[in-house]
Amino acid sequence: MNLPGSPYFAYRQGFLHVEDLPLAHIAAQFGTPCYVYSRAALTANLREFQAALAAHPLGVGGLVCYAVKANSNLAILNLFARMGAGFDIVSGGELQRVLAAGADAGKVVFSGVGKSATEMEQALAAGILCFNVESTAELERLDAAAGRQGKKAPVSLRVNPDVDPGTHPYISTGLKSAKFGVPIADAPALYERAARMPNLEVVGVDCHIGSQLLDPAPFSEAVDRLLVLLEALAARGIAIHHLDLGGGLGIRYRQDETPPEISTYLTPLLDKLRGREKLKIVLEPGRRLVGNAGLLLTRVEYLKPGAEKNFAIIDAAMNDLMRPALYESWHEIVEVERKNIPGATYDVVGPVCESGDFLGQARALAIAGGDLLAVLSAGAYGMAMSSNYNTRPRAAEVLVDGDKAHLIRRREHIADLYAHEQQIPEDPC
Ligand SMILES: *Cc1c(COP(=O)(O)O)cnc(C)c1O
Repeated sequence: MNLPGSPYFAYRQGFLHVEDLPLAHIAAQFGTPCYVYSRAALTANLREFQAALAAHPLGVGGLVCYAVKANSNLAILNLFARMGAGFDIVSGGELQRVLAAGADAGKVVFSGVGKSATEMEQALAAGILCFNVESTAELERLDAAAGRQGKKAPVSLRVNPDVDPGTHPYISTGLKSAKFGVPIADAPALYERAARMPNLEVVGVDCHIGSQLLDPAPFSEAVDRLLVLLEALAARGIAIHHLDLGGGLGIRYRQDETPPEISTYLTPLLDKLRGREKLKIVLEPGRRLVGNAGLLLTRVEYLKPGAEKNFAIIDAAMNDLMRPALYESWHEIVEVERKNIPGATYDVVGPVCESGDFLGQARALAIAGGDLLAVLSAGAYGMAMSSNYNTRPRAAEVLVDGDKAHLIRRREHIADLYAHEQQIPEDPC
């Protein structure tokens, strides 16, 4: 079996390793549940995007802005910053995070439909590359915020090209019905308005059509529509310096999924832009950079055989990895040690008191109580979406580099979870 995330996640003599380290050693040292990432996988993924851009005449000077929300651990942000990446942020919190991780503010783009005035002021003060603006009201607020600081805010409009990415409805964002972006038909008029605002500087056009796309066709359709928009803007005397194509490139979760290679996705898009040699390209990949670079390591607490179903009750739960409960998404679950014991079919469930608390259903596994399991392809939207539901401390995070394991986030203590709560005084009698 060719595991998602291979060759950085692979069996050696029946024991699953991350790079050169057996996962059993990580469990012994740091406990479970635990997110485990491969440094080599993370850097290889970013390098592949950067190389695919640099190989194209148009992509030279292009910028890969990692979508921070996929996994915002400081160590991962710092690795990417050191490799020259920019960042796509969606909150003031993420701005502070990327700056703390050593990001160059000049390589940060700010997306999101609900930026507050305070968040705008912080991003203006930091000197970010671009605000990806999603509504008329937001343009006005940004113009005012920039005016107060005596600055010109660099803006793109996030345009909604109305293409169907054919993905899960919760992660498709580029349809007319989505809350995101402005309809492409309204964009020329809105750009004219933005160009007239005294404290804005129009610099780009932005789109992001959805997530976990396995077919490159919707990207291509979106670029075609953006090109028509660029012509319309040029006719109005509005010059565009960069085109931001968003993120959304999918990864392999299931054995039968074949997401396109990064260059297969990108090169045809860049080819369409030939003749516009001055245009810079910005990309905002999230999942594709980190998703298959991480797994969730967990231990079986109990096996609970039943007449209709067998359950494997594990120490990780929906609060650690929410994707199966939220999107009905599928993660490969494998034994950390391959043993010669009889297998069975299990629903792999957590201890949380919800029927939706499963990480996998009907999985063939050869396991006993106390064994370790790995939930694969969990590097994106895993830890980042975790919660403390059921007063469960969030998992530890470990970054493997060769045969070394670095703890990049310690497991939370229970007392951390109620540290900000207070009881009210006794009633006077
Ligand atoms: C979430 C998001 C991304 C990243 O999406 P992936 O599917 O993880 O690549 C990029 N841009 C914007 C605006 C986003 O909201």
